[in-house]
Amino acid sequence: MDLRLARSPWIFLSSLLLATVAAIPAQAAVDHQKAATRQYSDVQVFLRELVKSHPKQVQLFTIGQNEAGDAIEGVKIGSGAISNLVVSTHHGNEYGSTEVALAVADSLAQNPLKGQAVFVIPVLNVSGYNHRVRWEILSGHSWDPNRNYPGPCGTEGPFTLKSTQALASFIDHEKIVTSATLHTFHPAVVYPWGMGTPDLSTPYDDLFKEMVQGAALESKYPTGNSTELIYAANGAYEDYAFWKHGIWSILFELGFSHDPSVADVQATAQVNVPGIRRMLEQAPRTRAEKHGFSGTCDDSRKSMDRHDE
Ligand SMILES: [Zn+2]
Repeated sequence: MDLRLARSPWIFLSSLLLATVAAIPAQAAVDHQKAATRQYSDVQVFLRELVKSHPKQVQLFTIGQNEAGDAIEGVKIGSGAISNLVVSTHHGNEYGSTEVALAVADSLAQNPLKGQAVFVIPVLNVSGYNHRVRWEILSGHSWDPNRNYPGPCGTEGPFTLKSTQALASFIDHEKIVTSATLHTFHPAVVYPWGMGTPDLSTPYDDLFKEMVQGAALESKYPTGNSTELIYAANGAYEDYAFWKHGIWSILFELGFSHDPSVADVQATAQVNVPGIRRMLEQAPRTRAEKHGFSGTCDDSRKSMDRHDE
């Protein structure tokens, strides 16, 4: 028997297997088994372990405290001159988005983006996350954190929550250039404006289209204008970041459910981490200059806001 012939199929299969493994982005460090039951304290442990595993690349930071005294923490990954942001879980029930933020942090820690420092905040709404509710509850009043920012067409706030005020101060102070905000549950990657107006265009529609299309190459999620693809919402973070500062602000609606299974979460992370990385990599290096809003607001569009994404 010719041993060379006997071995060759195995050698071929081995190299094929290695090539396949090499093509899959490494995300093994995030154990999504806990996705549905993870508490904020577990997220804090994860962040500390990430710092310990990658001490040269990763630093812990806090943007401030919420009313209950919880520190809203994140990790800064890389040391480049351009500061970008991934913020997740404005809505406490959207744990699928928290898991993707952890997977993004892990991917960036293993392989930071050149020339960038990326800040990742996995959970903005700590009490909501711990209780798996959308809202942040203060003295019996339920606030939607992603309607809590000032905006040209109004808001349900502004800044009645320490969390949203802390994030607003943070993006100003750190001079964030590009921001990804992560939500669940109906797949879409979208750009401003997302508020109640018939005047949805910005001077950067073409550039924004390139950003969202690049972000959705693997996920194949629908892309486009926020109001057109989702619904009008006044006082949202993603519009605020662009309107106030000219931050290139992209909203990710991830997955297909507010209650994704472990397999769903793994699949969602698998197809979105590369797109979020690419979006940050290819984004402009300076903020947008023409970020004011000169259109008209249409109050009747407020009734379109379903408060469910
Ligand atoms: Zn949401």
